[in-house]
Amino acid sequence: MAQMRVVQVDRPNGPLEVVRREIPEPGAGEVRIKVEACGICHSDTLTRTGAFPGLAFPRVPGHEVVGSIDAVGPGVSRWKRGDRAGVGWHGGQCGYCDTCRRGDFFACETATRVTGITSDGGYGEYMLARAEAVARVPEELSAVEAAPLMCAGLTTFNALRNSGARPGDLVAVLGLGGLGHLGVQFANRMGFRTVAIARGKDKAPLAKELGAWRYVDSQAEDPAAALRALGGARVVLATVTNGPAMTATLGGLGVHGDLLVLGAPESLEASPFLLISGERNIKGWYSGTSIDSQDTLAFSVLTGVRSMNEVYPLERVAEAYDRMMSGAARFRVVLTMGG
Ligand SMILES: [Zn+2]
Ligand SMILES: [Zn+2]
Repeated sequence: MAQMRVVQVDRPNGPLEVVRREIPEPGAGEVRIKVEACGICHSDTLTRTGAFPGLAFPRVPGHEVVGSIDAVGPGVSRWKRGDRAGVGWHGGQCGYCDTCRRGDFFACETATRVTGITSDGGYGEYMLARAEAVARVPEELSAVEAAPLMCAGLTTFNALRNSGARPGDLVAVLGLGGLGHLGVQFANRMGFRTVAIARGKDKAPLAKELGAWRYVDSQAEDPAAALRALGGARVVLATVTNGPAMTATLGGLGVHGDLLVLGAPESLEASPFLLISGERNIKGWYSGTSIDSQDTLAFSVLTGVRSMNEVYPLERVAEAYDRMMSGAARFRVVLTMGG
């Protein structure tokens, strides 16, 4: 049997080991992807630590996967060998549970497959994916360019486009990291008056370069007051994992303003008075399904949104992973498979 190299974790907090395995055959409704690039996401810690409910070891992490279809299983007709394809966090849906029949595939009750968590992901040369979980990848994007758009890009793009904000509205992006640097670009391209909020004066030029209309240094000024001075935000897109930093923006929401929570701190405090007095909302946003990923890629081609990436070969996965988790990467880390 032909073999492949993959990176697996075999126990909670175990090392990321490059191992050889047999190349798997796609089952009914599945495709096999020859992986070219896979982004490293903060959520990959859920695989590494085993913290995600139901996770079984050994497991191959990775849910920012881009490559090409290499084989199709029984019952798959719309994909063929050679098609460029990407897979994100959402690993598939049953299509028949109550939630699916209401169109909320992301919250499917029965086929909750999560790429790199309940099934093996993209840290390797090949992976299997459910056909409905695959997005088409346009020729204009390289695999490395497309990979971070499958989670970080999708999450920010999809949250913003479903936020209810309209062109010209004041939209703030809290954080200028892996998600935030994409969020600012998307918000700018969608026609929002885009405010980037981060810590330190030194990030102002980057914010401008990404398309922010204003930059707020939250160490130098109160972000809520700064947003109020601009008329109050329709949306604050919270990409950080720091609860107090999110709380500090709540007072900057305008009437009916929404704090859209993408980052996951342990807890979040909110003043009920602020919520009630302006009918403000705090709302979480799930990344999206494969068609949302496909729309993210197409919009990025159309408007020139690109992730800034540091690229590592698969063999250097341990170093690449530590780099991403340290928070020092500018701004996403992508593994390439070579050959
Ligand atoms: Zn992710
Ligand atoms: Zn379902």
